[in-house]
Amino acid sequence: MIYDCHSHTEFSSDSEMKAEDAIEAARKLGIGLIFTEHYDFDYKESKHYKEMDFLFDAKKYWESYEALRGEALLLGVEVGLTPGSIEANRKFINEVPFDQVIGSIHAIDKLDIYYPEYYEGKKKEQAYGHYLETMADMVKANPYIDVLGHIDYISRYSPYDDKEIGYKEYHDLVDLVLMNVLDTGTVMEMNTRRLDSKAVAESLLMIYARYKELGGQYVTIGSDAHKAENVGMNFKMAQDMVEFIGLKPVHFRERKIEYSK
Ligand SMILES: [Zn+2]
Ligand SMILES: [Zn+2]
Repeated sequence: MIYDCHSHTEFSSDSEMKAEDAIEAARKLGIGLIFTEHYDFDYKESKHYKEMDFLFDAKKYWESYEALRGEALLLGVEVGLTPGSIEANRKFINEVPFDQVIGSIHAIDKLDIYYPEYYEGKKKEQAYGHYLETMADMVKANPYIDVLGHIDYISRYSPYDDKEIGYKEYHDLVDLVLMNVLDTGTVMEMNTRRLDSKAVAESLLMIYARYKELGGQYVTIGSDAHKAENVGMNFKMAQDMVEFIGLKPVHFRERKIEYSK
């Protein structure tokens, strides 16, 4: 079974998706699903903390959803990677037996990259360079994560005309991220959110082909759905890309890698 390895229900501050609706959407598509709720320990230092805290109670989460867990549904978490949250994340992921742990960069220097503040006064080269550099460092500092989430997260929100992480321009830093991913036994996620554009797909293809070239074998595919209608979005494109490159789609159950077929 192919799994949508990245989704957020109402345990995530920014999602109101009901577990039942998400499960039903996945069932209709004939795919499995992994819930990966937001845990951004450091977010309390953000000026937007009052609106959303991006924290949740792991035990409550487990109690609420454990009965739903099975072949078609696994329970994971998406931890935000920042220098100040390394130990907190390590502790949190052991509070309950999560199936899969995604590590993601959502904030840099305490600035949420969803908001314009991170980009203010920065040229694209600086904003993207610092983002990739931070990602490489954080992967190395958090070797316990299973999956590196959405390498192209910054491209969703940055204000530049060309939002892509062009492999040609950023090859040194992209390579550093990918090498640290491989050194730490982490798996790259292919996030499908932006794959409805051919230009985006082509640009990301270069990065994932390079991952394969450097020795990468596995990839998780995840929609990052916060609404039931987005579960499994653009999966056909992602599966075609993964097959074309020669990577194997996987998911994690009880923190162990499994082939998704
Ligand atoms: Zn994320
Ligand atoms: Zn997410």
